[in-house]
Amino acid sequence: MDSLLSALRQHYGWSSFRPGQRPVVEAILAGKDSLAVLATGGGKSLCYQLPALIREGLVVVISPLIALMEDQVLQLRKRGIAAVSIHAGLDEKRRIEASSKMKDKNLRLLYLSPERLGNEVMRDFLSNAFEGRKLVAIAVDEAHCISSWGHDFRPIYRRLGEIRSLFPGVPVVALTATAPPRVRADIIRLLNLKSPFVKVCSARRSNLSYCMRRRSKEPLQDVVKAIKSSRGASLIYVRKRSDVEKWKNLLLEADIEAIPYHAGMNHVARQKAMGAFLEQSKPVLVATIAFGMGVDRGDVGLVLHLNLPASPEGYLQESGRAGRDGLPANCLVLFSPGDRKRLGLAIKSSALSSSSRLGNSEDEYRIEFSQKQLRRMEEVAEGTFCREKVLMESIGEIVPPCGRCDRCQANPKYQDWSKQAFILLAALEDGKGIALKSLIQRLSKETCKGQENWGWLARRLVQEELIKESNDGYQLLYLKESGRSFKRKPWPLMYAA
Ligand SMILES: [Zn+2]
Repeated sequence: MDSLLSALRQHYGWSSFRPGQRPVVEAILAGKDSLAVLATGGGKSLCYQLPALIREGLVVVISPLIALMEDQVLQLRKRGIAAVSIHAGLDEKRRIEASSKMKDKNLRLLYLSPERLGNEVMRDFLSNAFEGRKLVAIAVDEAHCISSWGHDFRPIYRRLGEIRSLFPGVPVVALTATAPPRVRADIIRLLNLKSPFVKVCSARRSNLSYCMRRRSKEPLQDVVKAIKSSRGASLIYVRKRSDVEKWKNLLLEADIEAIPYHAGMNHVARQKAMGAFLEQSKPVLVATIAFGMGVDRGDVGLVLHLNLPASPEGYLQESGRAGRDGLPANCLVLFSPGDRKRLGLAIKSSALSSSSRLGNSEDEYRIEFSQKQLRRMEEVAEGTFCREKVLMESIGEIVPPCGRCDRCQANPKYQDWSKQAFILLAALEDGKGIALKSLIQRLSKETCKGQENWGWLARRLVQEELIKESNDGYQLLYLKESGRSFKRKPWPLMYAA
């Protein structure tokens, strides 16, 4: 057996690496910078933990996620490995405890939240470790947070760019679960990685089945049914903090005791919720998307979104928390066409509040990009193609249809919508721009056809790029040049509906 495998067996008790892990470990041991894009549940943390153990030195891990850090420290200590995490959430007692642990000569993993790196004491500590040749590597976890093109941009991550110059010769490894090519390029550039080794594993998860459908007016029964027919733990994502409470109460009416979780809860309450989620045998947790990064529960059998997710990347990350044990799991999205507008406006207002942080032109790109992401997500939800295929394409991966999702299973009947499309496009002829709602009302009145149909068709024509939609959140619709060509000489538009 080679030395890497025997180290893996000695420290973790496993007999083989998961896809992608080994070459990243080798790159770190060879002193090379690297970028690893490994799917959620693909064992990213092992990539930087094992080198620390083999070299008997220290690896510093930067992570924005306190829950993830604490969870990993707990797991490492269970294996008898000295590890500590330092972040703003520590109280006095735990801070003192942490600094005494930092003096431990056998400390192998030090988890830091990004703002800690600016702290002078911390820098001194790291310089000492560096000079004593104990610093094996610096790992930047959730590295996509550095890119304003990513779905989870955190401005503080931009400061990590200086790490490279602080510790010359110490390899930096950037890790993330989802990073399309543009985000990968940003990570390499902004972290200043030197000819990095890049490992990108497929984000496909062959044990997950995606299903997306319209949310009914009273979705409780659908939710209860989904929970009851799933194995293991269930994760239910809602959009707002107030929805967490609302759904907790609704589920209670159906005799389901759900655990609430959102970022507005205090540290102790969140820890308690997390603990309950990890301990109960079949927990149901209702949360905003603040929950879940790094939560190490393998048997999540259901990830249910009660709103349209904001982007395919974010959705892949959230749904990726299902079935990490490799057994079949369901990913269900219940959405309504109105979700799209609410999210669009939210993007606009969050961009406005951050406009002092970034230059104006970058802000504009960001708004446009977020709106584009949202449209792509809508395309996944409302489109007639394989869910997984469209999701993968949005992160730059071309794959065949999955055969497992509701679209693949349904074998849909297609019909030609070009006549209706012609009527709809004609209503946009004057070029003044019209809101979706007014358009729908006008067409329903003129044609006696249902509002539902016209709304749906208008969305499809936006995705078809025959209509342009304003990015300001108001969604004014304009006829595109391609729409005019269609009107001059219509072609078949085959949709399943
Ligand atoms: Zn499919």
